[in-house]
Amino acid sequence: MDKYFKRLEEIYEDFDREYFRKDIDNTCKACELCCTSTFRYPDLSALEYDYLKKYVKENNISPSVDNFKNFFQYKDSPYCPYWSKEKGCRVYLARPMFCRMFGLFRFEGDSELPKSCVFYGKRIDVTDESRYKIIKNLPEYMDLIYKYGLLKAENKEEKLEILIKMGKDYITQSRLEEALSILSEVEKIDPHNVSVLFDLAFIYREMNKPEKSKEKLERSIYLGGEEKYPYIHQHYGFVCLTMNCLEEAHKAFMKAIELEPDSMLPYLGMALFFSVREENVKALEYCRKALEINPQDPVALNLAQSILKL
Ligand code: SF4
Ligand code: SF4
Repeated sequence: MDKYFKRLEEIYEDFDREYFRKDIDNTCKACELCCTSTFRYPDLSALEYDYLKKYVKENNISPSVDNFKNFFQYKDSPYCPYWSKEKGCRVYLARPMFCRMFGLFRFEGDSELPKSCVFYGKRIDVTDESRYKIIKNLPEYMDLIYKYGLLKAENKEEKLEILIKMGKDYITQSRLEEALSILSEVEKIDPHNVSVLFDLAFIYREMNKPEKSKEKLERSIYLGGEEKYPYIHQHYGFVCLTMNCLEEAHKAFMKAIELEPDSMLPYLGMALFFSVREENVKALEYCRKALEINPQDPVALNLAQSILKL
């Protein structure tokens, strides 16, 4: 455990050095808003839970970390149990990473900060993908969280849940080889998991292995993946198109349009399908439908222009 705590500590220190330097004065001063139940907090990982538990024990701080966890989960009190009017955060050195990141970064779906916030207007927007490049040490921090979680998992289900999260996260980070290795292991244990099959199909498609991607998509569709991923047919259509399986691609795009008539990509898929078959009138018709939904789509625009030049 100690090596995990030690590395977590180093990551925390490094993060604070980078973002809470004295010269940029990134402190919240007297503001306490983020330590109230007004905000939505993510789950507390096993690693940060245990680390905080050790810290409060060593420093005789009460209440227990369970109270803190309940506050995060259920908002059962107006303030974080570690917040004090006089001292601010009483576990400042061991506060979890999301307490450090909040304010500095705006994640997709986060609400705007109040105008009184010291970070108002200075907040850095991050997407699911860009956060790993922008936020210092985030990939290593997440690896640590996952590895510790696996070590502490009490049963097979918990372990699988972490491995799936880890695999998805590696896809977001474009660490495709690692994602493939993890999710392939999960597939061996849970071969009926439509989500894992869908993710594996995505990885194989990105790795330019359409045959493997097609196989995983077929299995996911067979097992009912369409319910969770209504756009699965569209993916299948494009993979079939890459492999020149034209009739299967056509069927898949038709199904995708039936399920998601407002989505642009299935129309674009149909346009490409007809273009490959040199049925240009129909190809153009579908290009127009795609462009009605997204007038700026570069592929649809290029395709339409090249057909019109013929
Ligand atoms: S741990 Fe500290 S920073 Fe985080 S919510 Fe509680 S008082 Fe605020
Ligand atoms: S991040 Fe902004 S809103 Fe939150 S406590 Fe700091 S100053 Fe207040």
